[in-house]
Amino acid sequence: MGSVKQEVGSGRDEDGVPARPLTGDDDGWPPARVLGRYRHGEGGGGPGLLVVGGLHGNEPAGVHAARRVLAQLAERRPPMRGELVAISGNWRALAAGRRFIDRDLNRAWTPALLSALRRRGPDPAVSEEVEQLEILSAIDELEQRCGHPLRILDLHTTSAPGAPFSGMGDSYRNRQLTSALPIPTIIGLDELVAGAMLAYLHDLGHVGVSIEGGQHDRPETVDRLEAALWLALVGAEMLTPEHVPGGHERRRDMLAGVCQGLPRIVDARYRHRVNPTQGFVMDPGFSSFQRVRRGQRLAEDKRGPIRAPWTGRVLMPLYQREGNDGFFMAREFSRARLWLANLLRLPLRRPLPGRELP
Ligand SMILES: [Zn+2]
Repeated sequence: MGSVKQEVGSGRDEDGVPARPLTGDDDGWPPARVLGRYRHGEGGGGPGLLVVGGLHGNEPAGVHAARRVLAQLAERRPPMRGELVAISGNWRALAAGRRFIDRDLNRAWTPALLSALRRRGPDPAVSEEVEQLEILSAIDELEQRCGHPLRILDLHTTSAPGAPFSGMGDSYRNRQLTSALPIPTIIGLDELVAGAMLAYLHDLGHVGVSIEGGQHDRPETVDRLEAALWLALVGAEMLTPEHVPGGHERRRDMLAGVCQGLPRIVDARYRHRVNPTQGFVMDPGFSSFQRVRRGQRLAEDKRGPIRAPWTGRVLMPLYQREGNDGFFMAREFSRARLWLANLLRLPLRRPLPGRELP
């Protein structure tokens, strides 16, 4: 028999350092730290899938998508291998409806900082340090039950409209997970943006993929993230396709339909970094994967127009006030290159020698 347990975060990290108390109820707002878990039958073991929704607090769609999946699993109780656990990401920022409280929670996952955090406990003046320790506790706990490595899906949304896509570190084991999802994949973002949570977890040997569902508050964004979760459960061989509510094919076709004509996998090689004093404003009308020509005007700031550094595809144009990434630029891989890398189980390319190189 299946079981879903809803619980409220303990608000206490492993070393017993008291954190701010967490509240939250089953389906209310703010959400609890642990949104729920599902395991079919008793005992441990099997693959472990951790879903993180709302690592950015102004992106609640991932929390809603995870709750939908958990609710349907609880109701139908299908047979499933292993265990699914879903947690909220930046819990306090989700409660406040802000991207973050004191600093971006997806930017400071470095081994040095995390070992310092575990040693000294969180700085009470930095809300995100408390969040990091609580997320690490959830990861440690699931790993104890399911073993290493875990699969981790980190759900995000964007300020601009656009098709869903996944982002990941460039490795064969990550490509295996994204191959179940008929949406474009971006590699290389982890080399352009230091300190992302998944890059840290990937370096620890876990399989980690982020999924961008679309624009923050659109209802279809939640549908897409939900579809991606079901497809990932099937791709991870935890659930069989006939147990996907609403139909595995139908959900796959929905995602494939909105991604029609987009590349399978692209390589992010440039980040336009923004600091708040520069007055960055993206020109209207850009969306992720849109082709742009070298020299084409994309945005402006106090210093003048900002142009595409080379011909390629623009990614994640910034249409909100918060955030340090104005836009990214990417190039496509050929199908032959992807085929060869899969055959040899190798990364698609060498790591960048430096940051922000074309
Ligand atoms: Zn995000």
